[in-house]
Amino acid sequence: MVNGYHPKDLIEALKIRAEVSCIPLAGGTDLMVQNARGTGLSPNFDKPLLFVGHLPELRHIEKKEGFLHIGPSVLLSEMLSHPFIPETFKKAISQMASPPTRNLATLGGNICNASPAGDTLPFLYAMDAELILENHAFDRRIPIEEFICGPKQTELKSDELLTDILIPTTLFPVSYYKKVGQRRGMSLTKVSFHGLAEIVDGYVEDLRMAFGSVAPTVVRSRDCENSLIGEPVSTLKSRFNEIWELYEPSIQPIDDARSTATYRKNVCYNILKDFLTHLENIKEIYNE
Ligand SMILES: Cc1cc2nc3c(=O)[nH]c(=O)nc-3n(C[C@H](O)[C@H](O)[C@H](O)COP(=O)(O)OP(=O)(O)OC[C@H]3O[C@@H](n4cnc5c(N)ncnc54)[C@H](O)[C@@H]3O)c2cc1C
Repeated sequence: MVNGYHPKDLIEALKIRAEVSCIPLAGGTDLMVQNARGTGLSPNFDKPLLFVGHLPELRHIEKKEGFLHIGPSVLLSEMLSHPFIPETFKKAISQMASPPTRNLATLGGNICNASPAGDTLPFLYAMDAELILENHAFDRRIPIEEFICGPKQTELKSDELLTDILIPTTLFPVSYYKKVGQRRGMSLTKVSFHGLAEIVDGYVEDLRMAFGSVAPTVVRSRDCENSLIGEPVSTLKSRFNEIWELYEPSIQPIDDARSTATYRKNVCYNILKDFLTHLENIKEIYNE
């Protein structure tokens, strides 16, 4: 028997969170799999569940003061059809799971599950997304890369909920997304990569590169990115080995059921090279 709380609003949910040790459940697509016991048996939760997927305060998508705000209980399928969600983020989401799963799965669940293979994470890291965590008395704002501290490990306290995801509305005219999996659909990630860039007059104005599934958390080398700002795109390909040397130490994949570490590292090498070639071929892109 699994006990659960079904609060009517966020205030009630945070009150329950303060008083009871419980597990927030949004769509349940991660939690139900992680706690499954087998056909005909109820899942094996060691604490009562706190249902948060229906809470209206966690289901917004709006633009405010330079940020796109997305409620953690917004469904992946809702994001795919919303005009505010950047096309390159939609590209990553459209390759996650299947339509029925995307009709249950939430953005907040993907973040709080903190899987190295979470497919929304490379884009959120590349964009310097921030999160709002709330308890019954206070809220705090934290960059996503500080929130996720390892596989399945986050800075979420036992009385808190994730209540908002903030993505700067900065426009990146160049975007590049690759997910490598066993097959095209319904496939867990072996390696993923989100690259974003602004190129002005043939020079790199801004550059973000984030790899998923190749280390305990998403890998983004700011040293490498910064070293390329101000560079002419025409030299990027010829500097590839130097760029790879900066990136390579932080790429620490593992052997697991999905892939080998060696394969993953080779894929990273090829993706990075392909992205830089893509930038060189683009030459010049201006903001609208
Ligand atoms: C068949 C299948 C295929 C999948 N394919 C992919 C894939 O391709 N790529 C991918 O990245 N993932 C995939 N997943 C994993 C999963 O669907 C996603 O991670 C999804 O976004 C999780 O969202 P959820 O709402 O179901 O999370 P839940 O299972 O409800 O929760 C996940 C975690 O988040 C916490 N949580 C949820 N909301 C909050 C909140 N507001 N505050 C604090 N904590 C919260 C929960 O306590 C739990 O720890 C797949 C899952 C299945 C079953």
